[in-house]
Amino acid sequence: MDEFVYVGLPTRVVLGVGALDKVPDEIDLLGIEKVLLIATKAVRDDADLLEIALKDRFAGRIDDVRQHVPIERAEAARNKAKEVDAQGIVAIGGGSAIGLAKAIALTTRLPIVAVPTTYAGSEMTPVWGLTAEGTKTTGSSLDVLPKTVVYDPLLSRRLPLKVTAASVANALAHCAEATWTPKANPITDVTAVEGVRALSEGLRAATTEPTDLEARSNLLYGACLAGSTLAQAGTSLHHKLCHLLGGTYDLPHAETHAAVLPQVTRVKALDAPRAKVRLEAALETDDLATGLYDLFTTAQVPTSLKELGLTEGQAREAADKFAPDDPEVLDILIRAWAGQRPEGAAR
Ligand code: NAD
Repeated sequence: MDEFVYVGLPTRVVLGVGALDKVPDEIDLLGIEKVLLIATKAVRDDADLLEIALKDRFAGRIDDVRQHVPIERAEAARNKAKEVDAQGIVAIGGGSAIGLAKAIALTTRLPIVAVPTTYAGSEMTPVWGLTAEGTKTTGSSLDVLPKTVVYDPLLSRRLPLKVTAASVANALAHCAEATWTPKANPITDVTAVEGVRALSEGLRAATTEPTDLEARSNLLYGACLAGSTLAQAGTSLHHKLCHLLGGTYDLPHAETHAAVLPQVTRVKALDAPRAKVRLEAALETDDLATGLYDLFTTAQVPTSLKELGLTEGQAREAADKFAPDDPEVLDILIRAWAGQRPEGAAR
């Protein structure tokens, strides 16, 4: 075995049907007396229930969250936390709600309890992002890593299938890319492989039975592993390309991952041949890139950037911005733009 370095991150994870009811106890365990609640609009009813259950611990609430955390929203949220004298934050919703909580924690160090309802995985990472004047800046700080993550499959049962499938594609991207980054190691590989198994099984089951709790539990478990492996192994070509595309052309986050991942995998998975074989077994396919593409197609996630509104000229422009005169990047982006089934990569 090659030498490696692995550092575990300190997050407490609670997963179970009805786990939302445990949030007040989890807050007490952290010694927090007053919390600011941040909630995605789509889970307003669950947030209302939580607000009641919090009793005197409830200090205030923010319902308006946006993707990629615009700096004005972050500043308003920080002011609100100060105004209500919050000692902690509970964020319920997708990566956007959790991202806003992280923006507050970045400057205040307030502890976060995250209750994720999508599969984006931000709750397991110390990575924050802020957008100012159309440019997204990201960074990493243990201050923003949620102290506790509560996964309740009851909350994601109403997540529309289209959003579910795209969000799962986002999580699968964390797992796949974690195997070929410079920081990949045997522990992140195992996590990534089990993540792919849980996510692909969960997605197939949720596609036929969207409210099935076992499928939704599997998906949250997979999202937890995916976020955790992303936090450890970091990112590489795939996430960097998606970041550029999302930031420059305002493409939807999760769907962009679905279109780009099979094409990057076609090339980059060759760098991690042992992990590739294991990921293929987990996905029940004989080729990782085509297996991902076929899974997304079956789940009706768009597999082309064209469908997301990008023009071929913009795909070429993005390739040029990312790596001028790099034929591999241009080839990946043109294939992702066209949504070609990714057969036959070789070096
Ligand atoms: P999101 O939070 O915007 O949610 C996607 C959509 O799902 C929204 O329309 C939301 O209203 C809806 N939704 C959420 N929960 C629902 C539910 N239970 N029922 C019905 N609808 C529901 O997006 P996301 O894909 O979860 O997260 C994307 C954001 O997270 C991006 O800004 C991305 O950069 C960030 N992200 C950060 C990290 C990190 O490590 N920092 C990791 C992954 C993603």
